[in-house]
Amino acid sequence: MVRCSTCDRELEAAHRYCPWCAAPQRRKLVEFFRGADPTAGRALRVSRYLPERLVRFSVWDETGTVRAAVSLDEDEAARLAEFVADPPAARPSLLDELRTLVRR
Ligand SMILES: [Zn+2]
Repeated sequence: MVRCSTCDRELEAAHRYCPWCAAPQRRKLVEFFRGADPTAGRALRVSRYLPERLVRFSVWDETGTVRAAVSLDEDEAARLAEFVADPPAARPSLLDELRTLVRR
């Protein structure tokens, strides 16, 4: 059981709207990402469901049909975000640092 974010009465977690006050309960953030190959006619839709803390990835084609989908829990989604984030700038090797010092 969860509580309504507006009237604080108990309701089922699956309810999208509060049965007591009709306030929306399920918050969903959606973003589309174009595929790297525009001729493929595919896009990635990422839906973030709050408060369930699930992230759903779905591949859509140009007809608006979902071709595949998978949901990740919050931990796996965070791991994915870390994976696709820019890698940290490469540190120069110790040898390169020494060469720089010698040139000065
Ligand atoms: Zn309510």
